[in-house]
Amino acid sequence: MRILITGAAGFLGSHLVDRFLAAGYKVVGVDNFITGSWKNLEHLQGREDFFFIRHDVSKPLFLAERVSGVLHFASPASPVDYLEFPIQTLKVGSLGTHNMLGLAKAHEARFLLASTSEVYGDPQVHPQPETYWGHVNPVGPRGVYDEAKRFAEAMTMAYHRYHGLDTRIVRIFNTYGERMRPADGRVVSNFIVQALRNEPLTLYGDGSQTRSFCYVEDQVEGIFRLFHADYSEPVNIGNPDEFTIRELAEVVLQETGSSSSLVNLPLPVDDPKVRRPDISRARRLLGWEPKVGLREGVRRTVPYFRHRIQEDDARARPIV
Ligand code: NAD
Ligand code: UDP
Repeated sequence: MRILITGAAGFLGSHLVDRFLAAGYKVVGVDNFITGSWKNLEHLQGREDFFFIRHDVSKPLFLAERVSGVLHFASPASPVDYLEFPIQTLKVGSLGTHNMLGLAKAHEARFLLASTSEVYGDPQVHPQPETYWGHVNPVGPRGVYDEAKRFAEAMTMAYHRYHGLDTRIVRIFNTYGERMRPADGRVVSNFIVQALRNEPLTLYGDGSQTRSFCYVEDQVEGIFRLFHADYSEPVNIGNPDEFTIRELAEVVLQETGSSSSLVNLPLPVDDPKVRRPDISRARRLLGWEPKVGLREGVRRTVPYFRHRIQEDDARARPIV
């Protein structure tokens, strides 16, 4: 029972490594650290059931030892990151997915693709069921991520239909928690870090746009169950409780006890106005639903960011 996880040094990838190790799997992690951090894996140093390869999966990868599963999580995921690395994002979603599908085929392994709610774009159907085809601007700045993931889904289904590869597609909705980078740029990490530093919380637009936030433990459990289920069509995994971004800011301020103000900044181009998963399929197929609400999840995440900020501040202090 050996599996390969790409993006293993990232936020979700590293939690998945832990989940599979805990279930008795041997895990090979692959990452090129473009947005990941060695910190997320350092607790695994010295373990014999974990092996790490530093590699850009947009280039082919050959493994001598057989794996029975490939989970492809490598990709910049924060809008700030994929706008900074547009070509790398397109490459890892297209070439990277092709390479990992090829590896899975050579090993006769099960393949799971980390897709995203961004395949629905700025949705005109709300909440979003898996049967909705989406509303994506292919030439807008976010298109580099959305279209790479849409291509990745099409490529995964082609390997499934043409080669008979055993595949899974998870459409992940906004997930947060421990091991996100403080400077990741996504809204939960931004708000918690700003609140802890008593800096203004940066509300893009008027904050009336909505998202549905899933705590990482729930997300990882959903993905783990999907990997073991017998189902090849896409499955939404996310928390259907929907909040405006202004409501999120209030929760963060209350849970951190911060007196930070709010500051309005321009809304990014093509920022989806609403997003909420229809999780009927996950409920029915996997017997899964999220257990951790937003307030509880933020409460669990705050100590991690407090610790990271203290570490960063200690490093920045001049040695006298
Ligand atoms: P992350 O940035 O923390 O992790 C991504 C990891 O992939 C990083 O460690 C990065 O270094 C690695 N990577 C990127 N390109 C690579 C390449 N070419 N070769 C090897 N490694 C590479 O982001 P995350 O939130 O953990 O996201 C993980 C996956 O889940 C991504 O595929 C993302 O699209 C998907 N996803 C995440 C969310 C979310 O809310 N966290 C939502 C939807 C989809
Ligand atoms: N956002 C915000 N302030 C921030 C970061 C993000 O108001 O400091 C908003 C962003 O415009 C979007 C929502 O929060 O409407 C979620 O943004 P995020 O980058 O976390 O992910 P997205 O869901 O857009 O991929």
